[in-house]
Amino acid sequence: MVNDNKLVYSYLRGKMLIAQDGINEGSEAEVYGWVLSIREQKTLSFVIVYENRKQVQLVIKDKKLMSSQLKQNSVIWAKGTIKITDKAPNGFEIHVSSLKVLSKPKKLPPFNIMSTDVPALDLRLDFRALDLRRPYNINLFTLRSKALQYFREYLISKDFLEVQTPKIIATASEGGAALFPLMYYDKQAFLAQSPQLYKEELTMSFEKVFEIGPIFRAEPSRTLKHLSEAISLDVEAAFHKNEDLMDFLEDMIRYVINRLYEKEGEALKRIKAPVLDVSKKFPRYSYSEVVSWINKNLEEIHEGEDLSSKHLEAFGDHAGGFYFIKDWPLKLKPFYIQPKDGDYSNSFDLMYRGLELSSGGERVHDPALLRKGLKRTGLSAKGFKYHLEVYNYGMPPHGGFGLGVDRFMMVVTGAENIREVVLYPRDVRRLVP
Ligand code: ATP
Ligand code: MG
Repeated sequence: MVNDNKLVYSYLRGKMLIAQDGINEGSEAEVYGWVLSIREQKTLSFVIVYENRKQVQLVIKDKKLMSSQLKQNSVIWAKGTIKITDKAPNGFEIHVSSLKVLSKPKKLPPFNIMSTDVPALDLRLDFRALDLRRPYNINLFTLRSKALQYFREYLISKDFLEVQTPKIIATASEGGAALFPLMYYDKQAFLAQSPQLYKEELTMSFEKVFEIGPIFRAEPSRTLKHLSEAISLDVEAAFHKNEDLMDFLEDMIRYVINRLYEKEGEALKRIKAPVLDVSKKFPRYSYSEVVSWINKNLEEIHEGEDLSSKHLEAFGDHAGGFYFIKDWPLKLKPFYIQPKDGDYSNSFDLMYRGLELSSGGERVHDPALLRKGLKRTGLSAKGFKYHLEVYNYGMPPHGGFGLGVDRFMMVVTGAENIREVVLYPRDVRRLVP
């Protein structure tokens, strides 16, 4: 219990609001929160307070209680009696008998958090802590947290072990490009662009692992789908073939989306989230099939060429919702991917319309073949000495994928800019807040 200007409150309540006898007509209740909106009428005022990410309506009849310090964004304590009513959020309101302002805003905010006219993203990101008070964002980031909970739920139910691998590394995991260098004492180090090599090594001992963590990429351009720091859900499993991995990823996506619809309908409705159809099997197109389609419907490209955003978007409009593009040319893939039929690979991307959500595939587990892969991609075996050594002690056949959590949230929420679904996005131009 803490005494704050004679007001006694507990930091450890751990519940939505203190209502001695539950939320019943006539019960006494206390609320601590911040003011979202104030609507003053002739004889009474309605104040919406956010407490623990839930809206509570206060009714203030006594004009003396409406202090000049009570404004949008003020942090308050109030006490009163509960009245059950359909007209208030969550089905009840509190008729206030005492009220105290615990913290009042010192400045006029740069935008109104209740405005239906949403301020420009850059301004909102400059004042992100305030922007996160907008009901839209409270719902969005609640959904993000829930989605992660459901991903974990799924993976743990399939007997995967959650792991954490180093983010400060000595060698690039996939190649030299797009790394952030840093000084590590007197040595050069890098921020990890992916947990790839560690998660592969871990299949040797734990068989099935996953990690949810940051990946760092020095993406040179400012696009709507790239950040310098993104969150990746990485999965790696021994004894899984390409088709097994696609089955697994598809099943996991379906599980998480169904759980969100089942449990978080209210928040999805409030942010006007799109309805995603996951009832049908996700189609699986081979890379070569996509190339044929592009040649027939868009423009001439050659087998073996990488697919540009324009190609992916056009094919995405044709393919619709979720689908896979599999069996990519080997030369477009990193050194650790398992070759297939000479020039191709046992690999896949999960797409939603034109947006890549995940890349994965079977990995090489034979050390000689892994050396060949390094050579093919122009990497020196010396830099991967420790990793190659591991392969001498019985590496199981394995495979996996990395799923961009931020990109998944773009799909769930319908956001067109990845920055909307990230608390404090990092990109070429933005390092603060
Ligand atoms: P893209 O081609 O879209 O740049 P990528 O093929 O380089 O992505 P991967 O190395 O396959 O990316 O990473 C796996 C997943 O991680 C991607 O499918 C994507 O969802 C996510 N991801 C990768 N890079 C970024 C980034 N810079 N910002 C946000 N998410 C990313
Ligand atoms: Mg990829």
